[in-house]
Amino acid sequence: MEIKAIHRLFLNCNAANTDTRKIKPNDMFFALKGENFNGNSYAEKALELGAAYAIIDEEEFLSSEKTILVDNVLETLQQLASFHRAFLHIPIIALTGSNGKTTTKELINAVLSQKFKTTATIGNLNNHIGVPLTLLSMTKDTEIGIVEMGANHQKEIEFLCSIAQPDYGYITNFGKAHLEGFGGVDGVIKGKSEMYNYLIANHKTIFVNANDTIQVEKTKKASIFSFGHLNDISDVTIEFKNAQPFVKSTFNDLDIASKLIGDYNFNNISAAIAIGHYFKVEDQLIKKAIENYIPSNNRSQIIEKGTNKIILDAYNANPTSMTAALQNFKKQEGYKIAILGDMFELGNEAKQEHQNIADLAVSMDIDSIFFVGENFYGCNVNSEKAKQYKSFSEFETGFNTSKIENTTLLIKGSRGMALERALNIF
Ligand code: ATP
Ligand code: MG
Repeated sequence: MEIKAIHRLFLNCNAANTDTRKIKPNDMFFALKGENFNGNSYAEKALELGAAYAIIDEEEFLSSEKTILVDNVLETLQQLASFHRAFLHIPIIALTGSNGKTTTKELINAVLSQKFKTTATIGNLNNHIGVPLTLLSMTKDTEIGIVEMGANHQKEIEFLCSIAQPDYGYITNFGKAHLEGFGGVDGVIKGKSEMYNYLIANHKTIFVNANDTIQVEKTKKASIFSFGHLNDISDVTIEFKNAQPFVKSTFNDLDIASKLIGDYNFNNISAAIAIGHYFKVEDQLIKKAIENYIPSNNRSQIIEKGTNKIILDAYNANPTSMTAALQNFKKQEGYKIAILGDMFELGNEAKQEHQNIADLAVSMDIDSIFFVGENFYGCNVNSEKAKQYKSFSEFETGFNTSKIENTTLLIKGSRGMALERALNIF
């Protein structure tokens, strides 16, 4: 069946769905294949649960006129998303970068939804399946779409841009994340810049943080809308006031007090303010949106437990975000304990990058540091204030909580370390 015909059926469906556990009546089910599963074998189940259609790519699973056989379900999902995107005729803002994509996406969504009906990526659905699903979640009512794009290797962003055809784009930063797949920092810059290449080639607009030299350099020949406080080329000026403990900024004489911690969130907030301003959201509404936004998913949250204050940032970690978090943490007052977990996906650089972070942490005004994970365990750390544990369970057994009071703790590590488990110890 042609994409156009599938799209006609899709328009009468509730939503695109790839998971029978979450099926809703009248969904269009896409039988994707994974390493350990074959969605085709769930097609029947999806229809029983109320799906209107099941898109499959193995003939033996054809059961009724509700099963639609295609060559490749994943490609059909992607092509349908692209077709739907073109059909909608709405502006789409794409976001990528090494750190801060989801936070920035949520902030932009909070701001733009003050004035428009927006549809944004749900959670972190930012890959070759998540981006199509995000596009397919947009409806005739959607006025602006906001799409997070993640990548861990070259050509991924190019491909996601070809599906989402963004009109606007923002790259949060070029940092040390997914070094393994990208081939080092230069590889990260090249890979993320695929979004710039797409936007420039298609005469679209790029949002630029004028304080970021790489962004400025890479968008010299582009149509840009820029923001910042250091560079006088900025279209919008946003000043950093302080980050104690939450980031505060000033924009058009308005003080905006966020509920986000970490200096690095100033960039994320600035992007949301600038994009809101670009789309003519009233200043007061921009302020309201930023002030009301509360992060979720272990992403830079402050948790008060007894007399202790815990900065929980256990959602992910890489050298850039780890450095940013430590630099912010050292400014906290009082007794400070850092619990740092391994950073994944660093390939050949893993040993050196963990050593760098270990050296940095030890050199800082932090009273006690606990390194958790095989990589940190392998580092050379000669400091009385630091302890190394090979695994979380060893840390759990070895960590003495008896005297932790009036202390600020930083908990940060890669997702796979699930360091939020440390919250149960105190
Ligand atoms: P993912 O790759 O998992 O999708 P992401 O890019 O969406 O991550 P967020 O989930 O928004 O990023 O933030 C993850 C962590 O990155 C934060 O908890 C914080 O430690 C760090 N971070 C956020 N924004 C920035 C930034 N602008 N610069 C550096 N680090 C940041
Ligand atoms: Mg994300």
